[in-house]
Amino acid sequence: MSAELLSLNRCPICHAVGRRFLFPIPETRVYECAECSFRYLDPCLPPDGMSAVYASGESLTQLHAFHENYYDYGDLHDESRTKRDFTRALEILENRLPPTERKLLDIGYGNGFFLAVARTRGWDVDGIDTSPQNRKLAKKKFALDLRVGTVNDLAAASCQYNVIALWDVMEHLPDPHDMINNLSRMLEPGGILLIAVPNDHSFLRDLSCWLFAVSGGRIRTGVEKCYLLEHVGYYATDSLQKLVCPHGFTLGDHFFSSTDLAKYNFTLKEKIMAGFVLLLGRLFHRQNRLIAFFRHNTPGRRKP
Ligand SMILES: [Zn+2]
Repeated sequence: MSAELLSLNRCPICHAVGRRFLFPIPETRVYECAECSFRYLDPCLPPDGMSAVYASGESLTQLHAFHENYYDYGDLHDESRTKRDFTRALEILENRLPPTERKLLDIGYGNGFFLAVARTRGWDVDGIDTSPQNRKLAKKKFALDLRVGTVNDLAAASCQYNVIALWDVMEHLPDPHDMINNLSRMLEPGGILLIAVPNDHSFLRDLSCWLFAVSGGRIRTGVEKCYLLEHVGYYATDSLQKLVCPHGFTLGDHFFSSTDLAKYNFTLKEKIMAGFVLLLGRLFHRQNRLIAFFRHNTPGRRKP
């Protein structure tokens, strides 16, 4: 990784400068905010470095070999964990919005899998991604005609949606408040923001940090799977609320899930180990993925 890193010097959520150094990971360090306990990297990848990493399957695989099939993954005919999560999220949205409010934007659509699932359920789908290769892939794989660009381009075009989805996007942003502020202006009254992130209050995270601590820093496999250079911020329900609610939103539904291991090119041994830890996470109700739904508060409109 050769991109120049960006110094944050303060918490991306509450902007406090006080913090506790936790441990180093390759190329950077993990801190915990002294005010709100949010965990974040400093320094981190800047937005253009992040776009370069997510430009293609090849660039992602250069960073981590386990991403080899990342953009190929997803089939409408398979009942994968990823598709089950997408379907569950869409069912929640369909229960919360009238049938006339089905305009959906996916930010960072990757290969378009989520939008393809949504389209089969009658949603009017749109998507934006910084990667021209992803646009081609979504067209080839799911016959979706989507946009290339940034959220700022869409905000400037005054586009409006009933639902805006961010699957695995928020954790990559050095300035998440700027993103939420832009999105709040692109949602129709009473619209819903769907945010899916790795859950930092997971059994996997706690076990990894405990093993790291009791081994004097020698057992690093777990923390280096939980804390990655391409993830700037590490969210849970409380930190997502601190981030999103000040922009005029209220947390409605949320659910937890586990990483879809089939999406990653892990060795058999890694899959067995990870599968076992994720199973424990399910048993202890501390799964490692969080999917949250925030309703935009508009005077006189529905509440969550
Ligand atoms: Zn903070």
